Amino acid sequence: MRILITGGAGFLGSHLCERLLDGGHEVVCMDNFFTGRKLNVSHLLSNPYFELLRHDVVDPFKLEVDQIYNLACPASPVNYQHNPIKTTKTSVMGAINCLGLAKRVNARVFQASTSEVYGDPSVHPQPEAYWGNVNPIGIRSCYDEGKRCAETLFFDYHRQNGVDIRVVRIFNTYGPRMLADDGRVVSNFIVQALKGDDITVYGEGQQTRSFCYVDDLIEGFVRLMNQDKVIGPMNIGNPGEFTILELAEKVLQITGSKSKIIYEAMPQDDPKQRQPDITQAKDILGWEPAVPFEEGLEKTIAYFKEQIS
Ligand code: NAD
Ligand code: UDP
Repeated sequence: MRILITGGAGFLGSHLCERLLDGGHEVVCMDNFFTGRKLNVSHLLSNPYFELLRHDVVDPFKLEVDQIYNLACPASPVNYQHNPIKTTKTSVMGAINCLGLAKRVNARVFQASTSEVYGDPSVHPQPEAYWGNVNPIGIRSCYDEGKRCAETLFFDYHRQNGVDIRVVRIFNTYGPRMLADDGRVVSNFIVQALKGDDITVYGEGQQTRSFCYVDDLIEGFVRLMNQDKVIGPMNIGNPGEFTILELAEKVLQITGSKSKIIYEAMPQDDPKQRQPDITQAKDILGWEPAVPFEEGLEKTIAYFKEQIS
């Protein structure tokens, strides 16, 4: 198949490019390089089945493809809050452009949605049936509501135009090729620990997240995309839940760093807890995470060691 990946030069996109090329497909990687880097896919450039396009998903595009994975959107709070209006445009107009293309060429289209559609959840763990608790006017809203509107568009194009959709809700994922400076917690703590800088825990570090290693997530993507039982939305993530303070301590322990933990202000609307209910992924896709947290952290630490040295 010829497969388009928007946001293909980013953290998750670059792993997906590799995975689909390995599967014998032709990959068109589209990116505006806001948070993605050519370096993430430079090792693929000599592959005749790989094509890299600089293009913004906000502007329409025409391509002949069999499948589309729509990943274009900054994912870290620091980056999506940098230009919040552009973030909403990217989610909403990017979705419309991908869905319009899918409709025109009869392609299956996949949306990278997020656990942020659940906001600061009052149901724990979060099943797909939970509608969420999202502030529509806060500093995270450009991302949360943009992604929620993109889901709405996916389901309306499906109901109204019969577009063949798949929607995944991704929970916090980490691994090699995260940006060292994009502010996400796993990369922040690892880089701080490796440099001997203070580890910046926000609030008291009692908020929780559940961290999935990138290889597990990509396996879930490909399984959801290539089955015909359900269209989603489906949670993909690792149910192993940690407080942010526990994460800081684990990073210190594995790196052997002497960095000090310091406490900084909690950002506005920061969700207090997050854990995926992955019953659907287990039952329908036969998917569950395989990489233990320590092993994933060690691989990620090894990557950042190389980047920093
Ligand atoms: P990332 O920032 O590394 O990747 C996003 C990519 O999209 C980058 O390459 C960026 O340059 C590109 N991009 C941004 N705006 C664009 C635009 N207007 N046009 C074209 N390209 C654009 O982040 P990631 O972690 O790889 O996330 C990929 C997708 O998965 C995003 O849609 C994100 O919302 C979603 N997601 C990720 C996580 C996670 O934990 N990594 C969790 C939930 C959802
Ligand atoms: N966080 C932190 N220190 C940092 C970066 C993040 O304590 O240096 C916290 C942040 O407040 C949040 C959690 O870690 O509670 C996860 O943050 P991230 O930005 O990685 O993802 P998200 O909040 O979107 O899940």
